[in-house]
Amino acid sequence: MSAIDSLPPLRSVIAAHGLTAKKSMGQNFLLDLNLTAKIARQAGDLAGSDVLEVGPGPGGLTRGLLAEGARRVLAVEKDGRCLPALAEIAEIYPGRLEVVQADALEIDPLAHLTPPIRIVANLPYNVGTELLTRWLDPGHWPPVWESLTLMFQREVAQRIVAQPGSKAYGRLAVLAQWRCDARIVMDLPAEAFTPPPKVRSAVVHLTARAEPRYPAEPKILLPLVAKAFGQRRKMLRAALRGHAPDLEDRLAAAGIAPTERAEQVSLERFCALARELAR
Ligand code: SAM
Repeated sequence: MSAIDSLPPLRSVIAAHGLTAKKSMGQNFLLDLNLTAKIARQAGDLAGSDVLEVGPGPGGLTRGLLAEGARRVLAVEKDGRCLPALAEIAEIYPGRLEVVQADALEIDPLAHLTPPIRIVANLPYNVGTELLTRWLDPGHWPPVWESLTLMFQREVAQRIVAQPGSKAYGRLAVLAQWRCDARIVMDLPAEAFTPPPKVRSAVVHLTARAEPRYPAEPKILLPLVAKAFGQRRKMLRAALRGHAPDLEDRLAAAGIAPTERAEQVSLERFCALARELAR
């Protein structure tokens, strides 16, 4: 019998510790350990890596990460009710699971891990995009982490991997794809969770690129993209009015027609425009 098999099923853990799901904490738990092991495998080779898990809850994914061989897992959980259940897992894997009770938005747990670091999480939906945006901060690149394997509402996952010409394409796609290779690796129906959320979910795997896909200054590219998508239905000559005195010439130099809208402009052309604006 492997270590993980000596732990009680997650349903019993939830009952024993009174872990009724709280909506305010974004709690939708995964109780199928085959599924959590499958998610853990999407993160790649865990054997030589430290893993940050945000929001372990009763520990289904945590068990998956440890069983798949993570060198060490640092689990950051806001809800103190989950700690006894997580302590039971820590006992089975001596020295490999550290649990911190904290709001993941308020601490920097990455400082406590040893590279290579992978981040794996079934994120609380209300904080998921905020954490992703922070982890993608181009001011700290290359990042301390090698990969992110994150569960999102499917609609958010689609925004991360979206291509130009689609409604989902926007700031998040540009930010994520400029610095990372990003793909959806799993789709999950609402019924996979207890309680089931209103929407479908998907797991996105992002690997950090050593170099950005196309050269550009973050301090020029990011405000440009924010402004362009801030008025995504307008033509760029209107959406970017006032951004540069000779805007139309710079758009032309970047191969962009002034009548195009932000959602038609590829990452490559946004980067070309950022370089033109830097001249
Ligand atoms: N990982 C578990 C699973 O897959 O079953 C639970 C996932 S549940 C969607 C989200 C978890 O994040 C909950 O356990 C919740 O208490 C926790 N959480 C919510 N907000 C948080 C925050 N700001 N920082 C850390 N954990 C948080």
